[in-house]
Amino acid sequence: MRVVVDLNRCQGYAQCCYASPEHFVLRGHEVLFYDPEPPLEKAGEIERALQACPVRAISAEFSDTTDGRVP
Ligand code: SF4
Repeated sequence: MRVVVDLNRCQGYAQCCYASPEHFVLRGHEVLFYDPEPPLEKAGEIERALQACPVRAISAEFSDTTDGRVP
């Protein structure tokens, strides 16, 4: 699956980091690092992170993209 965070929109609220700490990490107060290709079995966790973001900065495509093809 693919995850994209609009870093211009992200305000560093860290709600995604609580929902999915393996895939979203806030360094300092406002620099977000994230996994752009988390495994599909983490879809529930990623969905919770997506829903938790108060500014809707996270978007995700919930399909298996491990074969390297761009959907
Ligand atoms: S919850 Fe949203 S605003 Fe907060 S750090 Fe995550 S992406 Fe950024």
